[in-house]
Amino acid sequence: MTISFSGCNSDNSSNSHMTDKPAALSPAVSHPHYPYYPSYRLEDLCDKEIDWKDIKIYVHIEDSKILWDYKQYRAEIFGHVRDFFRENLIDCRIVYSQEKLSPFQSSNEFGVEILDSDVRMRERFAFLLTGINFDPNETKLLLERKGYAATRAGVTLINGGLEEFKEMIKSGDMSIKEVEDQYPGTYRGTTVRRYLFKGYAANICHELGHCMTLAHPGKLSSLVSDYEAETPNLMSYQNPVFSKKNSIGYCLTPLQQKLIHSFIAGGNNYRAFLYSERDLDIYLESVAQENKLSAE
Ligand SMILES: [Zn+2]
Repeated sequence: MTISFSGCNSDNSSNSHMTDKPAALSPAVSHPHYPYYPSYRLEDLCDKEIDWKDIKIYVHIEDSKILWDYKQYRAEIFGHVRDFFRENLIDCRIVYSQEKLSPFQSSNEFGVEILDSDVRMRERFAFLLTGINFDPNETKLLLERKGYAATRAGVTLINGGLEEFKEMIKSGDMSIKEVEDQYPGTYRGTTVRRYLFKGYAANICHELGHCMTLAHPGKLSSLVSDYEAETPNLMSYQNPVFSKKNSIGYCLTPLQQKLIHSFIAGGNNYRAFLYSERDLDIYLESVAQENKLSAE
């Protein structure tokens, strides 16, 4: 399939005079096309209402038998992803892609690549960011993570599959059926399978949260904490607590909702992120500075 990555946020019109720039002089990666320094004040970053918005998520599941469950149950897993966003008034369309993804350049399109190992995740991370002065050696940091957000590309990379079965599936020592038979029971009030798949979905949503500027609780002088009442925050590392309102067991605070709604609508938060070269650390430092918060 062919994917069009043309941006569809409505804020590009004022920059049309810049499009005549010779290609050779264009920066390799999306350069902030807002020439002025944007406001990073939290109240300015929350400039859009929390009402229904649409996003599109392109999904590529790597061809690997380790990822059999992502392939076989993708509707169920990404159904949980959609449920989470719907709970936050975001309607999300999932588009499956046979092709690997390319960087996205708009405020409401994102990518998710499901890969079969941390090494593959590292390789894809380096590849997606090539051309922006990236030192591939730094990708060592990614080892042993279950996911990583290539925020500059708007793509979330997931180290898919169940770690404890990976080697045996790869070697053929265990059939898929044997793996499935390992989790027929129930756990924490749901089936083991559903618990796992909601966990997969939460991992994906967490990394997409980073792509939309969300930080871990504790950052920015702990503006966001690990829990809201009983429910853990999506950006925390806590175990899920399922409820009708929080189907995958995690929530967002009103501040986080405002930030992502501004982002998706191409509002001030999106502009500030572009100005930060879509780098979460640079963005967070500016937010910390301008709001007199600690970045850590
Ligand atoms: Zn994270």
